[in-house]
Amino acid sequence: MLTRALVLKVAQMPAFKNWIKHSRWTQGLVQRFIAGEDLETALSVACRLNNEGFLVALDYLGEDTTRAEDAQQAANQYIQLLERIAQRGVNACISIKLTQLGLDLGYEVARENLERVLAAAKDLKNFVWVDMESSKHTQAILDLFCEMFPKYPNSGTVLQSYLYRTPQDLERLLELGARVRLVKGAYAEPREVAYPDKKSVDRQFRIQMERLLERGNEPAIATHDTRLIEHAKRYAARLGLDKSKFEFQLLYGIRRDVQKQLVAEGYRTLIYVPYGEQWYPYFSRRIAERPANLYFILRNLFRR
Ligand SMILES: Cc1cc2nc3c(=O)[nH]c(=O)nc-3n(C[C@H](O)[C@H](O)[C@H](O)COP(=O)(O)OP(=O)(O)OC[C@H]3O[C@@H](n4cnc5c(N)ncnc54)[C@H](O)[C@@H]3O)c2cc1C
Repeated sequence: MLTRALVLKVAQMPAFKNWIKHSRWTQGLVQRFIAGEDLETALSVACRLNNEGFLVALDYLGEDTTRAEDAQQAANQYIQLLERIAQRGVNACISIKLTQLGLDLGYEVARENLERVLAAAKDLKNFVWVDMESSKHTQAILDLFCEMFPKYPNSGTVLQSYLYRTPQDLERLLELGARVRLVKGAYAEPREVAYPDKKSVDRQFRIQMERLLERGNEPAIATHDTRLIEHAKRYAARLGLDKSKFEFQLLYGIRRDVQKQLVAEGYRTLIYVPYGEQWYPYFSRRIAERPANLYFILRNLFRR
């Protein structure tokens, strides 16, 4: 966790950021995690994944929006994305971030933009995942999600097993009947709010995953951790849970071997596909969670 905080800090340094964005040495790694910078390229990637048997969630990248016009524009982009998904007949839902829709500008700003996106998705019979962000936003994201859910049950949200508060939040969402995507958590969090060690995070994930499989509404198990994936398979089988009643979710470009194997075994498998020009914060989180990615970057930093 300390390493993650450090990497995320370094990633914010303008010189490092500039180098990553423009160096030809890092482009391969960027392309591995990001589907492209424009909507049509992302839709083509989604079509290809559909043909390989995957479901898809498209994420138009962006977060921490500080201007109301940008937040409105992001909501417009999502509505356009929903329309293009329908026109092209792609089997894809969307995944959004409330700070992109203006949460830092106020609850009401985010609420208005979110509702426009949810209403468009409802009209088009599509589904919206509301991503979870850093712990300073957790309460507001859950409150807004829970407020909207009764009117827009075509939505689900995310819980992070590294947060101490997650068991209570999980009960709240189970009570509501909403779909939940369980992840370990990708942000640098202080030890006052989150488990600082991987072992505890993995243990919490396992406990919450079991609870979700027992009680959840089509839960989404979002991890590349093969030990947890195997445990989910065994636990679901023990519960007699049909493979259509839960879903594995993985990130574009990560553990493609596992992705293919899940589909081959007949599991519902969704790939989270990020695209857009504002890919840097998402990309830096992918680097921070895997030392090998960082070593690759550092090796190339001293090349030339
Ligand atoms: C579909 C999906 C949606 C997500 N949505 C959110 C969200 O809304 N909010 C949030 O905080 N987090 C989100 N995450 C990220 C999540 O919190 C973790 O940071 C991320 O999934 C890595 O953890 P892991 O469960 O794969 O386990 P880890 O123990 O970190 O990794 C297990 C294995 O996966 C592989 N792996 C993991 N990460 C990488 C990487 N970056 N590069 C290469 N290989 C890697 C490695 O083989 C590693 O050994 C999401 C993840 C997924 C899969």
